[in-house]
Amino acid sequence: MNDSVLPFIFESFPVRGALVQLENTWQRMQQDHSYASPVSEVLGHAAAATSLIARSLKFEGSVTLQISSNGPLGTLVMQSTDGLSLRGMSTAADVADGISFADLVTGARCAVTIDTGSTERPYQGIVEIRPESLAASLENYFAKSVQVLSHLALISCDAFCGGILLQQMPGDLPISKDDWSRLGYLAATLRLVDIDNGATPGLLHRLFPEDDIRVFEPATARFQCRCSQAKVEDVLRFLGESETRAALVETGQVDVTCEYCGKVRSFDAVDVSRVFSDLVIKGSSALH
Ligand SMILES: [Zn+2]
Repeated sequence: MNDSVLPFIFESFPVRGALVQLENTWQRMQQDHSYASPVSEVLGHAAAATSLIARSLKFEGSVTLQISSNGPLGTLVMQSTDGLSLRGMSTAADVADGISFADLVTGARCAVTIDTGSTERPYQGIVEIRPESLAASLENYFAKSVQVLSHLALISCDAFCGGILLQQMPGDLPISKDDWSRLGYLAATLRLVDIDNGATPGLLHRLFPEDDIRVFEPATARFQCRCSQAKVEDVLRFLGESETRAALVETGQVDVTCEYCGKVRSFDAVDVSRVFSDLVIKGSSALH
């Protein structure tokens, strides 16, 4: 049950939930990066949260969680498809150990974008960053922006990350305040040591020993980057021919590294000519 999301419902309350654990997916995401531990922790929380949100989508599409801050976190992007193909990265610079979440994300803007891949415009919701944590920020977002009362607990270390999301379901008799608080309290007791064997029904029963829980088929998560040669060529065209050729001058090739998966794509003078060949090329003969 490693790298999976396990959906469930409570038999006695109108509350649904999902438990996630990411191991290989999470380790692959950190490969080619050397994130300081406060950054890696937030990135792991983002990976767990984004996969929980993606798994709750009722349609094909993708979820992107993006944080842009003036703090040391810089930009953080985490994407998951409804089928749990994940990728994510942060542009974080030097970060002191022990820095608080609030200081890491100073002046942050945070958004959740849901893209159905159709002609409809992607839906974007603004997440107000709470100083406590990403989990608290997202709980607040669910309550205020999508009117779904939620409990969210997120955990992360170098080896794996995970989390649990509980959401009240609309339309049914509401759960009492006391029971809702109790479930939130128990969800928040999720610890790293609990989840190293994956998102299992046994773990749910340990977290909520007094409650009847029905679990559904787990879904498998994987790391998958959506970069491609064609997309990189589009980036070069966006940069413009003179910028691209200027980069060629120094080493004879332009290397473009994907920030998500670390794949390097190299373009020499011939490649660059081909990329711009369907555009009006000025002075290209000088290269031959
Ligand atoms: Zn890539």
